[in-house]
Amino acid sequence: MRLRKVGGNPAERPDTDDTRGVAQDRLHGYCKQGCGACCEFCTLNINPSYLQADVRHWLELHGITLRESAGQVWANIPLPCSALQPDKSCGLYGQAERPQLCSDWPFSQGEIDELDRVAGKKTCTFYFEGVSE
Ligand code: SF4
Ligand code: SF4
Repeated sequence: MRLRKVGGNPAERPDTDDTRGVAQDRLHGYCKQGCGACCEFCTLNINPSYLQADVRHWLELHGITLRESAGQVWANIPLPCSALQPDKSCGLYGQAERPQLCSDWPFSQGEIDELDRVAGKKTCTFYFEGVSE
């Protein structure tokens, strides 16, 4: 399995216009106070054999949903981060123990869209916009 997402900073992330990963995309947005949506679950890249109906049903009984994308299978696991505080702030913010992934996320519009899909509504304020030069 491969870790795809850990989360973002739910409390204090400033406005940004970082250019990330894909050279043509520019990240806009800010981290909403009291959101923490990206810290409420994790997504793992798993073996496609887990798509077998009986196994999939077993996973769904555990609250885990599967999604196929670009020939890969992703498991959404509704497991909040242990550092997430009741007010949805990050208990590790500003500390060395906080994963760098939390500061860097999101890496693509697809990840933001996936979070919104899981949440059932538009949740994350970040979005990627193509750079026309
Ligand atoms: S879902 Fe987006 S706005 Fe909400 S805490 Fe994560 S990065 Fe911030
Ligand atoms: S360490 Fe903080 S920002 Fe990262 S997932 Fe946990 S609560 Fe969220």
